[in-house]
Amino acid sequence: MIKVRDSFLPFSVPDIGEEEILEVIDTIKSGWLTTGPKVAQFEQEFKEYVKASHAIAVNSCTAGLHISLAAIGVKPGDEVIVPTLTFVSTANVVVHLGAIPILVDVKDDFNINPFEIEKSITSRTKAIIPVHYGGQSCDLDAIYDIARNYGLSVIEDAAHAVGATYRNYKIGSDELFSYRDQNIKRTVVFSFYATKNITTGEGGMIVTNDDNLAEKLRLLSLHGMSKDAWKRYSNLGNWYYEVTLAGYKYNLPDILAAIGIHQLRKIERFISIRQAYARIYDEFFSNIPEIEIPVRYTDRNHVFHLYVIRLSFDRLKISREKFIEELKRYNIGASVHFIPVHLHPFYQNTYGYKLGDFPNAEKIYNSIISLPLYPKMSESDVKYVAEVVKNLVEKNRK
Ligand SMILES: *Cc1c(COP(=O)(O)O)cnc(C)c1O
Repeated sequence: MIKVRDSFLPFSVPDIGEEEILEVIDTIKSGWLTTGPKVAQFEQEFKEYVKASHAIAVNSCTAGLHISLAAIGVKPGDEVIVPTLTFVSTANVVVHLGAIPILVDVKDDFNINPFEIEKSITSRTKAIIPVHYGGQSCDLDAIYDIARNYGLSVIEDAAHAVGATYRNYKIGSDELFSYRDQNIKRTVVFSFYATKNITTGEGGMIVTNDDNLAEKLRLLSLHGMSKDAWKRYSNLGNWYYEVTLAGYKYNLPDILAAIGIHQLRKIERFISIRQAYARIYDEFFSNIPEIEIPVRYTDRNHVFHLYVIRLSFDRLKISREKFIEELKRYNIGASVHFIPVHLHPFYQNTYGYKLGDFPNAEKIYNSIISLPLYPKMSESDVKYVAEVVKNLVEKNRK
């Protein structure tokens, strides 16, 4: 029997240090709270980190996805292809523009299946939103080949993927695009939500190689005004502005960018801790036939925003729901990523999606549990979780 730990181990805890706190205080004392010099610095350092031409900070990844679709010209009635195994905001933003989310199935690595993308293309298809699930890149070569062949835009949902790589280039890098068709419109959008690999509490970043898109995204992020408030009211600018389109109010405030600047400086350390902990889980689970560990590829660096195991519940006497309850009894927070979009009532009632539409995503959904994995955990926390999971499987064998 494993002794139950004294304190609850939450599913996710952000790692915020003294540096972030002092930078926030500095921002507050400066008197400039909203979008200004700290956002400019965060954007600069972020685009240098991923090696992109442009970075536009926004107040969430959802906002970034929304204005990316608006910037590439998605109109009512257009179709946008989205994997069904994602957080619902990936699909919601399509709905916000009056376009139709065309859901498709995923592969056993939980990422969108390029064959399913190609099967779903019609004359109304405008864009694809691949999601780098859990922090491992999608098959970008296959996806961009399809985009080029059918004249589609690509908006990468990189909410989990700050620092992840594909063929040695960081997700968001211009290099992942420069050798491809420059006519493809393309943005990559990251999330700094509280649970993500780096956080500003709430926040997001759009990167792109495309000068015109970048300019449009900047306008769309702040009312469509041709100059932002900082330039208008500081001595760098004046009072005059022009509204060239009906933009949104999606700008990131300096108070939050202050946190992001220091989180970004810690990203490589965060990633290596996540990867080391993932290896500990792998080792514990590798000889348990009822547990399937995450799929990995040698041509991409998985940054393990999520560590998701698949359990063969047909070989166990315990249900997934009960398993998560048992983990809680052992003071462990666990979760499920994600309830497939096509199983939500809104998507069923509005677009006619139904149970059975995407068999692989449903099979995955019914078998997965996300285990806690973050730099604030200690190695012994990780080993405790691994021991409990192993023990629960062993004592529930049929
Ligand atoms: C968290 C998440 C988002 C939304 O990010 P926000 O910054 O909270 O808007 C989008 N897509 C995926 C896959 C996510 O996990």
